[in-house]
Formats: sequence, C-alpha cells, structure tokens
Amino acid sequence: MRAEARIDLDRLSSNINRLKDAAGTSLMAVVKADAYGHGLVEVGLAAEKAGADWLGVALLEEAIKLRTHGVRVSILAWLVSPGSDFKSAVDHDIDLAVASIAAFKEISALPNKPRIHIELDTGMTRGGFLDEWHELLKQDFSKVTVVGIFSHFARADEPGEKQNTDQLNRFNEMVADLAALGVNPPIKHLSNSAATLKDPASSFDSVRTGIAMYGLSPDVRSLGDSKSLGLKPVMQLRAKLHLVKAVPASAAVGYGATESTQTDTKLGVVAMGYADGIPRIAHDAGVFINGRKAPIIGRVSMDQFVVDLGADSTAQSGDWVIVFGDGSQGEYTADDWGAASGSINYEIVTRIGPRVHRIYAPHVY
Ligand SMILES: *Cc1c(COP(=O)(O)O)cnc(C)c1O
Repeated sequence: MRAEARIDLDRLSSNINRLKDAAGTSLMAVVKADAYGHGLVEVGLAAEKAGADWLGVALLEEAIKLRTHGVRVSILAWLVSPGSDFKSAVDHDIDLAVASIAAFKEISALPNKPRIHIELDTGMTRGGFLDEWHELLKQDFSKVTVVGIFSHFARADEPGEKQNTDQLNRFNEMVADLAALGVNPPIKHLSNSAATLKDPASSFDSVRTGIAMYGLSPDVRSLGDSKSLGLKPVMQLRAKLHLVKAVPASAAVGYGATESTQTDTKLGVVAMGYADGIPRIAHDAGVFINGRKAPIIGRVSMDQFVVDLGADSTAQSGDWVIVFGDGSQGEYTADDWGAASGSINYEIVTRIGPRVHRIYAPHVY
C-alpha cells in the first residue's frame, strides 16, 4: 500500500460524547460526502453505536446506502430535489427535508404520510423556504408526518455575530407561524458543530454535527483548535516515500521548475498527489518523518509530491510519512493543510480520494 487514511472510530465515539454533553439534546451525526471522507457506512454504523440518535446526509442515495447496510436510527436527507425517487425514500424509512412547494406536493401525494422536516431559510439565503413560505402555510399538512423543522447558520463560527441572533429570531418566528396553524414539529434543529460548541441556546431538540464529530475545529482562528475544544481528530493520513535521493544545491524540482533546492540536500518523493486530494496549490505544508517536518518543494503532481528531508535525514525509500495527524508529535494537521492551500480542514478531509485506503484502526507514530 502506498497511502492510507487511518480512521480511529474510538475517537469518533469520544467526540460524539463530548458534543452530546455540550448540546444536552439528541444528536444527528452528519455523514454526508462519505462521512467527510472518513467512510459513510463505517462511520454511520459507529456513530449509531456511539449514541447518535439520528444520521444526517445530503443525498437520498447516501441515506439508502446507510439503510441497506443496517443503520436503524432515523436518517434525514436534505438535498432531495423535486423529481427524486421519493417513493424509495419512504420505502427505506428515510425522513425527507422539504424546501420547496414542488417537493412538498410530490411528497404529500405519496401514501402512508411520509416523514418530513421543513427546511427554513432564516438568513443564509441558500436552502429552505423563503419566498414560498406563505404558500407553504396554505398547504394541506394532513397527508404528511411533520417530524421536524430546521434551518442552518451561515456564521456560527463567528460567535457574537449579529446574523446569528437574527437567524435564531427568524427561526422562532417561522416556527410560530406554523404553530398558529396547529402544526408543531416535535424536532426543531438549528445548530451545526460551531453552534453546538459555542451557542447552546440554539440547540433546541437536536444538533446536526459534522466537522467536530470528526475531531476538527469548525474554525481554528475564531474557535480555537481541536485540543482546546476537547475534540480528537479522527483521521490520520499517511503515505510512503516512494524514493529518497540526494540532490545538489540549485536542482529545479517538479513541473514548471517553480522551486529549486537551496543547498545540497535529500529529497523524498511522496506517493500521493492531487488525484488523492493533496491540494496542488499547497505550500507551507509537507510531511512528518523521524520526529521532524519535511516541507513540500515544487508543485504537487497528480500522484506524487516532493519534500525536502534535509541533508542529514536518515529516511529511506519505502518509509511511511505522516501527511497530517492530530499534531501531538509536531506533525502537520488538516488545519495546517487547509491554511496552506487557502482552504479549510473540511475540504482537506472530504477530498481525500478513493485511491487512498481507509483503515479503521488507531493512528500510528
Ligand atoms: C453539512 C451540514 C451540517 C454540518 O455542519 P458542520 O459545520 O460540519 O457541523 C449541518 N447541517 C446541514 C444542513 C449541513 O449541510
């Protein structure tokens, strides 16, 4: 094997407990996008075992895959557009988010009162009812089971930001509009990871936690890092050194010869590239081997990238290096890779490609 993502499901379980304590409510484990790159089915089953009360996904096919692999807790799918196979959702006992009149009409035309969660646009201006809200209030709710009502914060990673209070107030108003018609969804949910950690007043009946469950901070700068939040990063990414070679000073490295060695040194060729989710534009990141960092030199290519190991390095071809981990040994973290590529930890873990083996085991150092 040349590259592996080691997923420690005990850490996932510890993070779920930490988040349930913070929320004081039930918890929906968000496992969309292959569980943020950690493996949909493995993480879904582990989250259920660790006490998650719900699983949340974007797509209907993600929800169905979880059901067919034995998940029994409630599952909510929220990116289910008109024209979707709603019947198969109902057959698999999947709750559906409804964000448009068109979807409401299709779903309420099905037999057996499908289970829905009404999605509200409270100010993010993305998903949920906004212009069609008053039309929704005129619909016949007797053909559906309204299980939930929910919305999503745009700036929960900026505690104290006025938009958060505005969204919370708008949420309460819209819930009251519906209650005035006698529709009282038992599960109101608004918080993502950041709000769960920093704004318990928004927890209502359940919280939808994604990134923090994977042990990563929703925003290191405004909320602090994993450790300060009591979270344990679940994924450790490792790769093999395909090759170690001594090179002289002034050797131009990689496509475009964008960088050259400053001194005589040893370079390592890491067997992982942008096809595996290593951002091509990353700089100020690299790998960790034998107790120290070896930074990237030159451009990341499709299947490999080059690091500067240093002239005195004892690393050998075939050795494993840590691409990112929890940072406890001084290695780079997913946060570092996010910062190094103008992105965020969410994108770093989610884009780890299918060629990288997921190993469900403790991290190794
Ligand atoms: C992705 C997502 C979440 C989880 O967000 P995190 O910041 O990862 O906790 C929650 N709710 C919805 C609707 C989402 O799309």
